[in-house]
Amino acid sequence: MTGVTGISNMPPGSPMRIVVVGASIAGISAARALRRHGYEGQLIIVGSETHPPYDRPPLSKQALTAESIPDMRLDASGAIQAEWRLGATAVELDLERREVALDDGHRLAFDGLVIATGTTPRRLPMARPLGGVHYLRTLDDAHALRTDLVAATRGVAVIGGGFIGAEVAASCRARGLPVTIVDAAPLPLEPVIGPEMAELCAQVHREQGVQLRLGAAVVSFEGEERVEGVELGSGEILDADVAVIGIGVVPVTDWLTSSGVTLDDGVVCDQWLRVLGASGQPVPGVVAAGDVCRWRHPGYGEAIRVEHWENAVAQGEAAAASLVRGDAAAPYAAIPYFWSDQHGIKIQFVGRRHPGDELTIVDGAPADRRFAAEYRQDGRLVAALGFNRSSRIMRYRRSLVEAAGSGVTRVHHEIGVQ
Ligand SMILES: Cc1cc2nc3c(=O)[nH]c(=O)nc-3n(C[C@H](O)[C@H](O)[C@H](O)COP(=O)(O)OP(=O)(O)OC[C@H]3O[C@@H](n4cnc5c(N)ncnc54)[C@H](O)[C@@H]3O)c2cc1C
Repeated sequence: MTGVTGISNMPPGSPMRIVVVGASIAGISAARALRRHGYEGQLIIVGSETHPPYDRPPLSKQALTAESIPDMRLDASGAIQAEWRLGATAVELDLERREVALDDGHRLAFDGLVIATGTTPRRLPMARPLGGVHYLRTLDDAHALRTDLVAATRGVAVIGGGFIGAEVAASCRARGLPVTIVDAAPLPLEPVIGPEMAELCAQVHREQGVQLRLGAAVVSFEGEERVEGVELGSGEILDADVAVIGIGVVPVTDWLTSSGVTLDDGVVCDQWLRVLGASGQPVPGVVAAGDVCRWRHPGYGEAIRVEHWENAVAQGEAAAASLVRGDAAAPYAAIPYFWSDQHGIKIQFVGRRHPGDELTIVDGAPADRRFAAEYRQDGRLVAALGFNRSSRIMRYRRSLVEAAGSGVTRVHHEIGVQ
C-alpha cells in the first residue's frame, strides 16, 4: 500500500498528527487501522488509565473467578508506533485552535482526532462511599471487587440485573457466595431480548441459586465504614458484605461540553463516524468510535449507540478509514452483536429487536439451555439469540449482514484476546 500522509478534508501540510483520546479497544483499533491504511504521520494515544490497554469483558468473568487475574492486555505494541500518554486525561477540546488540553497542562495540536472515551458506570444516587460497595468498569475496579469477594462471607447484593450485573452474579455463584440481584424492572434485559427470553434468563439465575428481587428499589445501604446490608423499598434488608452496582453506563463526554461538538447521549456522528459540530455539519478531521459514539446507522435510518466489544473494534477501524479516506470509505453499517457468559452458558445476540417482534425457537430447546431463536418483524428476520449455539448465531449474523446489504465492517481479531 502506498503511504498515506494526508487526512481526508485536511489541507496538505506537515507535520501531520493524529491524536486518539481513549486508550482502550476502540482507540487501539483505530490506531492500528490507521497504520494499516498506510498513515505514516505522528500518532499520539492519550488514556486516563495508567495501565497499558487491556480488554474489559473478562473483568466480570475470569477476573472474578479464576485462580488469579488473567493477562488481559491488548496487543498494542509494535505496528502502531504511537507516542503514549497514559495516565493523562483530556479535559478540553478546542476546535478553533485544533487542540486537546490535558490535565497535566499540556496541549496537543492535531490534524486528525479520534474520540474514543467510552462510557463510565451510572452512579446510584443514594450510594454512600462505603467499603464493600463497588462499580465495575476498570481493571482497578476488578482488583478491588475481587479482593472483597475473596473475603466475603455473608453475601453479595448486585444492584442491576443487566449484563454486567448478571455476569457478576454468576461469577459470585461460581465462588460459592450467596447472591441477590435487585432490579427496579419487573424483568431485567426485557428491552433487549424480549419478555420470553428475559424470563428464561431469570429462571437460569434462580436454578443456579441466585435470589432475585425484581420491581424492587434500593433505598439505603446499611453500615458505618463497610456495607453490612442493603435496604429495599419493601423494608427488607439484604444481608451483604459486598454490593455491586451495575445500573448502566453513561458516555464520557464531560471534556467536550465547551467544544461545540453535538452531544446527545454520546458524541453525535454521521454515517462515516465524522463528529458533527454545532451547525450539524461534520467537523473536518474529527471522528468518534466505540461506546461513546452515537452515529446515524444507514441500515436502521436512525442514530444509535452500541455498548459492546465487537462494535468498538469494528467502529475504531471504520473511524480510521473515514479519517484517511473521507466519504470514499464505506458508511458504518455494522449489525450490533454481543455475547455474555453466565452460569456456563454463552449467550449471543445479533441484530435489533423491537416490541412485538415474533419469537420462534428454531434449533434446540430452551429447557436444555442450548438453542437458537429468531426474532421476526412482519416475517423479516431482524435479530437472533443463542444459548450455547455459537456457530448458528454466526450464520444468522452473516444473513443479517447480507440482508442489510451493508458490507458490514469485518472485525480484525488481531488486537483482541478473545
Ligand atoms: C465488566 C465488563 C464486561 C463486559 N463484557 C462484555 C461482553 O461480554 N461482551 C461484549 O460485547 N461487551 C462487553 N463489555 C463491553 C465492552 O467492554 C465495551 O463495549 C468496550 O470496552 C468499549 O470500548 P471503548 O474503547 O469504546 O470504551 P472503553 O473501553 O470504555 O474505554 C475508554 C477509555 O477512554 C479513557 N478515557 C475516558 N475519558 C478520557 C479522557 N477524557 N482522556 C483520556 N482518556 C479517557 C478511559 O479511561 C478508558 O480507558 C463489557 C464491559 C465491561 C465493563
